[in-house]
Amino acid sequence: MKEKYIKVILISTFSVAVIGLGYVYKDEVKSFIKKVFGGNLFFDKSLQWWREGSWGIKTYNALMELHPDFRGQVKKFFDEVEKELGIRMIITSGFRTPSQQAALNESIQASPNYSFHQYGFAIDVNGMKEGQIIIQQNSSRQKWIDSGIVNIAKKNGLEWGVNDGDSDRVHFFVRPKGKTASQLYALLKEGKTDSKGYVVV
Ligand SMILES: [Zn+2]
Repeated sequence: MKEKYIKVILISTFSVAVIGLGYVYKDEVKSFIKKVFGGNLFFDKSLQWWREGSWGIKTYNALMELHPDFRGQVKKFFDEVEKELGIRMIITSGFRTPSQQAALNESIQASPNYSFHQYGFAIDVNGMKEGQIIIQQNSSRQKWIDSGIVNIAKKNGLEWGVNDGDSDRVHFFVRPKGKTASQLYALLKEGKTDSKGYVVV
């Protein structure tokens, strides 16, 4: 009986200590969770719609494959487009491995290793309304601009494929810390990657 009593006191004291420390170091705990889970994405209810329908799920999965430094920015871009324009953005292509990139090389401009897709810093997107795709690759440059999507992307620090000297209208990307794709490739070759293989910029 006495032993049981001591056990209860020990467990309670331990629990109170853990909760107390957790509270005192709440910022550290938060940043640890952020580091492990790649941002607040898992805890964000506004992402619920991403899981609706097959494109929602594909988009959510593609988002989670992007470089951890880029995910939050894309999410904010998409959330703002939906809120301000009523358009849901979907990702048709995000992170690509070198072989996937090479296979696409015939039809697109960037060669293997020199595409931001390969480092998880580029997305190809379409816009949807009421379950229908309303803006895509063959929509005119003007239609993309008039839609307001390009503006919201820029506001969130993303560059547009059309501004990059080519005419890839579905392509949005960032140059992390101003780096070019070949500089990212150099980092990759030097082995400057995290445990999941993302280049550390
Ligand atoms: Zn692209």
